[in-house]
Amino acid sequence: MIYLDHAAATPLDTTAFKAMQPFFFQDFFNPSSPYIAAKETKTAYQEAKTQLARLLGAKASDLVITSGATESNNLALSIARPFLDRPGAVLMANTEHASLLASVPATLIKTNQNGLINLKDFKEKLTKDTVLVSVALANNELGTIQPLSKIGAIIKAEQQRRLLARESTPLYFHSDASQGFALLETFPARLNLDLMTISSAKIYGPKGVGALYFSPRVKLTSQITGGGQELGLRSGTENVPGLIGFSAAAVNFRKHRNSHQSFYLALKELFKRELADAKIPPVFLGDPKRQLANFCPFSFPGIDAERLIYRLERQKIYLSTGAACAAAKNQKSHVLAATGLDESIIAGSLRATFGRLNTPQEISTAATIIKILVASEIKRLSL
Ligand code: PMP
Repeated sequence: MIYLDHAAATPLDTTAFKAMQPFFFQDFFNPSSPYIAAKETKTAYQEAKTQLARLLGAKASDLVITSGATESNNLALSIARPFLDRPGAVLMANTEHASLLASVPATLIKTNQNGLINLKDFKEKLTKDTVLVSVALANNELGTIQPLSKIGAIIKAEQQRRLLARESTPLYFHSDASQGFALLETFPARLNLDLMTISSAKIYGPKGVGALYFSPRVKLTSQITGGGQELGLRSGTENVPGLIGFSAAAVNFRKHRNSHQSFYLALKELFKRELADAKIPPVFLGDPKRQLANFCPFSFPGIDAERLIYRLERQKIYLSTGAACAAAKNQKSHVLAATGLDESIIAGSLRATFGRLNTPQEISTAATIIKILVASEIKRLSL
């Protein structure tokens, strides 16, 4: 198997797995139980949370542990609910993940063909009624890294204007950092972010666990009520092994971040070079200067990418067309559509996302097979 779909899922880090194991067996206790053994489990949970928070330059009490990025995004958006009757209350990039776009009515900010946010459009749409701005750290289809510090500065200026004008409407800044957290510097306070989503499943941690960072100025309302766990912000018995694994995987990945970064860039260069002499010249998508190192979205205009994926699957080469969730629903990628790319480029687009277990040999083999299949598709279509 050659797996090139790490933006969709990553295999579990073995260090994380080892760290999790005791919490399935001898230390399986409910952290809320009164005996010492359970209190020790609670302490381990808290320590893992502190360790994870530290990667964000934050404290454990600044994080709510959730079931993943979808829940974190939903929870972040909930702070805008009391204001939704105001026009332009929520602004988000038109390339955001469905867990944001589908959750509340929002005014969408334009992006260019590389998926980069249009700052002029953003400034024009930011009004005195805007309560929440949500822009991903990096997009999950193109890997485009958004200029969060510039957006944060614009938001800060508007917050200061409101303060001076004694306007009471709050303005919060959220970023879905599910893609990018592992590879990029992510200190929310430095970026003027009030809320930030992170997910374990994308960084070699277990699935079904994520977190939402929230700054002290944010008053979150629980979306899941009950026993009052997670500071009353997210009830339900804690996913102890999940958080322990998430935290261990995050720490381990970040420790080797620089070497991963250069390893991925080398794989990407190799892949691009190997694909360059395909029968149809590939179009590489996204902004080469502002792209996550392990992302290589590309297109063969005029070729049916869905067919290519199925044919690659028969050779045990796994990559995806656009986001896995959109592909599963047989829908055209909303991200690529939003960026205004040509229909033939969208229909022929694939997304390769590399991982730390990939080898240069795998990349060369995948590229060679892709070229053979493209040539065969051209023959079939007599292009
Ligand atoms: N946001 C982004 C940017 C993502 O890539 C994903 C996963 N594709 C999600 C949110 C949703 O993550 P989950 O399915 O783990 O809730």
